[in-house]
Amino acid sequence: MRAITIKQPGGPEQLELTELPIPEPQKHELLIKVHATAINRTDIINRETPLGYLQSPILGVEVSGTIVALGSETSYKVGDSVMGLVNGGAYAEYVIMPAERAMLVPEKLSMAEAAAIPEVFLTAYQTLFWIGHLAPSETVLIHAGASGVGTAAIQLAKQLTQAKVLTTAGSEDKLTVCRSLGADFTFNYHHGDFARHILEATNQQGVNLILDFVGSSYWHQNLASIGTDGRWVLIGTLGGNVVSAINLFDLMAKRIQLTGTLLTPRSDTYKAQLTKEFSHVVLPLFSDNKVKAVIDSVFPFEEIQEAHRHMEDNKNIGKIILQVSS
Ligand code: NAP
Repeated sequence: MRAITIKQPGGPEQLELTELPIPEPQKHELLIKVHATAINRTDIINRETPLGYLQSPILGVEVSGTIVALGSETSYKVGDSVMGLVNGGAYAEYVIMPAERAMLVPEKLSMAEAAAIPEVFLTAYQTLFWIGHLAPSETVLIHAGASGVGTAAIQLAKQLTQAKVLTTAGSEDKLTVCRSLGADFTFNYHHGDFARHILEATNQQGVNLILDFVGSSYWHQNLASIGTDGRWVLIGTLGGNVVSAINLFDLMAKRIQLTGTLLTPRSDTYKAQLTKEFSHVVLPLFSDNKVKAVIDSVFPFEEIQEAHRHMEDNKNIGKIILQVSS
């Protein structure tokens, strides 16, 4: 099969199209003929400095496709259209998916839309509700609102809790999309300190929950923006990993719960449970047109290097899809 691997850790130029054997499913696994996969920041991190999370030399953590073979202990059938998370290996014509991870593609969705869902929607659902415990009538600050995860989180927060959603992003086009998805308050972080505006928008109370993709460059503004007893979920470090001067008393004084999380290295069992609950709670919302996969662009398989550059240039609004087969 055709697959994309890394020549050596480094930039997008290290990604190469190569030939590898088609993997074989074990008893609890599905072999998927991949229609589409999508680019994620975790792919970029693993391309630059492989973290050892993936059980495959091939990048990619999510797919949509058709089951072409399966193990003896699975409840699916050959020909089913599925989407879901894989343990690496998605940038290929065929990939193995643990059967408990598969979701049947809702009828109304295209296979490109299906590939846009697993990583960002499961992350948004997990961080808003399993970790962030967002409740109705609360307020949530979602940074990078036009990112893949941001576009999913805005919609899920509004649809599942009617919480007040505040977002930041880096351009007016991005903020317009955030509002169209349901954001109540948007702020362009190039226009200065967001904390003052977040406090104004929350009657000086601060937000109950922050989904933080940015890390160190937002540390002090996040601290000022969060309310007493606020939950702060650190999901990414796009603005840096190291905060040089932290006053721990600030965390204590507001009784802040700060949690870091990474989905990719979580166990198979955890991902299966998350997928099961998500399928039950969220997939019907796609069928009812209450939430949607936001697709920025679709790149042909051969243009993987351009697809990675597009994400690294922060150009995308929503997901970048890689079409593997027609
Ligand atoms: P994405 O679609 O590529 O969007 C990321 C956006 O973040 C960029 O387009 C850019 O938009 C903004 N950004 C970049 N650098 C920034 C900075 N220094 N300060 C402020 N904003 C910045 O990303 P994604 O795939 O949705 O992922 C979003 C984040 O979630 C990433 O950090 C990713 O690693 C993380 N993630 C974590 C998990 C987990 O389990 N922990 C799972 C999935 C994703 P602007 O133009 O608005 O600046």
